[in-house]
Amino acid sequence: MSMSADRPTYVIVGGVAGGMSAATRLRRLDEHARIVVVERSGYVSFANCGLPYHVGGVIEERSALLLQTPASLGARFGLEVRVLTSAEAIDTDRQVISLRDLESGASEEVGYDALVLSPGARPVRPPIPGIERALSLRDIEDTDAMVAALGPDVTSAVVVGGGFIGVEMTENLVHRGLQVALVEALDQVMAPLDPEMVAPVHRAIRAAGVDLRLGTSVTAIGSRHVELADGSTLPADLVIAAIGVRPDTSLAAAAGLRIGERGGIAVDKQLRTSAPNVYAVGDAVEKVDGLSGESTLVPLANTANLQGRRVADVISGLAVSDRPVLGTAIVGVMGLQVAATGWNEKRLRAAGRAYRAIHTHPASHATYYPGASGMSLKLLVDPETDAILGAQGVGRDGIDKRIDVIATAVAGGLTASGLAELELAYAPQFGSAKDPVNLLGHIASNLRAEVSRSIQWHELDAALADGAVLIDVRGPSEVRRGSIPGAVTIPLDELRGRLDELPSAATPLVVTCAVGVRGHTAARLLEQRGWADVRNLSGGYATWRAGTGLARQPPLRNRTEMGLS
Ligand code: FAD
Repeated sequence: MSMSADRPTYVIVGGVAGGMSAATRLRRLDEHARIVVVERSGYVSFANCGLPYHVGGVIEERSALLLQTPASLGARFGLEVRVLTSAEAIDTDRQVISLRDLESGASEEVGYDALVLSPGARPVRPPIPGIERALSLRDIEDTDAMVAALGPDVTSAVVVGGGFIGVEMTENLVHRGLQVALVEALDQVMAPLDPEMVAPVHRAIRAAGVDLRLGTSVTAIGSRHVELADGSTLPADLVIAAIGVRPDTSLAAAAGLRIGERGGIAVDKQLRTSAPNVYAVGDAVEKVDGLSGESTLVPLANTANLQGRRVADVISGLAVSDRPVLGTAIVGVMGLQVAATGWNEKRLRAAGRAYRAIHTHPASHATYYPGASGMSLKLLVDPETDAILGAQGVGRDGIDKRIDVIATAVAGGLTASGLAELELAYAPQFGSAKDPVNLLGHIASNLRAEVSRSIQWHELDAALADGAVLIDVRGPSEVRRGSIPGAVTIPLDELRGRLDELPSAATPLVVTCAVGVRGHTAARLLEQRGWADVRNLSGGYATWRAGTGLARQPPLRNRTEMGLS
């Protein structure tokens, strides 16, 4: 045991994202402290976010995942890094932690002036018969086991769970040439997305040849197959369990530290646990939700790294507070970028919070410059305060930038309408003179000022049943490719000359087009020409089609069938 007043001892449990950020920052703030990092696995400072890509062969060299070694950390930062060492127990009264060397079995007690816990999370392993055959991915050892399991006789795989790691593993096993099935108990993958936003993700997964099974779960894992709740069987030389993670609170709970209502270690704004001089960060701790102020679990690398740095600042006496989290995240799926920040519509609805949803489908950059691709963006706004509640984006390019700008706007307290005013970098190969983020702001400010009104894809049926008439202002060639049943089609450029074909000015109208842009112009025109109740279908046909899951619709009814002149 060593502890002295003039040379404090800091012990850090967990030598990866949060733990190593804390250790290196502590060293930069205190050259003289003894800093001991304890890591149960054989590696520290490894790139857990890169692990699926090594399994898939995208990151070819295993060594690329190993960013530092105990020796390199010793040389540069003067850290005592102990791998294959488990922190077994904490005596919070004596401020002592018990360590066990996993190779020799030897135990040792180390006294601490401050203890930082960053033990991460553990994969959820549901009690399915045969679950012991399923592999999970959390560290280098898991990665080695997975790579070793991918022998020449392994041709099929089932990935259980369609969250971030599940879709990354699916993509990587496809990349390795396996026949892959992805099984997700919910009716969509990527829970942070709303249903109309996830449709292109499902399409991309299926287009890559993956057998995507939604709304069913694995009930048993056999030696070379899995059984599903819907009665079907899938070939499975390899089974990957990616069902989610739970905070690893074993050490903390055994030491009597307070565990929060969501099952993570409870910490205050200075990342202090309930025991004196014991701090905790990363996946293991409960965070404060940026919107509700309630406890939440956000197992993401950015948060863990930032908390690791913050806790070192706190221990060193700097005036620092932990920040609430938005859960900003991105994942690549079969060439698509899928990103989200804040709350989605499902969660807002479930919480009974008022919101306004905005959809737009702009191009990733100026369409006249080669390589532009379409994207879907969704913004959720508080109708009272104009606060940004959340955003989602799906597309081949430029999603990361837009979601990050919006997350930054939220952190800076900008309103949704304020997005219209952002001055953003532009040249044709990178964006548009009116950036997609500006467009979201324009729509938000129009809705707020009641310059326009919108209706959501899932509200359309009720509006039509109540007597509204749907006007599709796209051109005939677009309409032939698919349209919403019951729509009257009048191309926007002909609308002014054909107003006499529309129902009376008292009839509620819904206008739609491909993505909502021409619909907005049509709605403005009709309102100023005397129609009192005109709403633009948010995101147009693209959002409606994605939300309803209908790729192609029956032909349009003509005006006579609609009872119109
Ligand atoms: P970890 O980085 O998990 O470190 C915890 C360490 O503590 C572990 O190595 C563990 O062995 C050690 N430990 C635990 N208990 C003890 C003990 N008693 N004694 C000694 N050592 C102990 N996040 C993103 O934001 N983007 C991504 O793209 C992304 N991809 C990911 C892909 C995969 C495959 C995985 C597994 C995670 C991914 N994450 C991603 C999540 C991200 O890696 C975590 O949020 C982050 O690593 C959490 O940091 P942490 O310090 O809390 O825990």
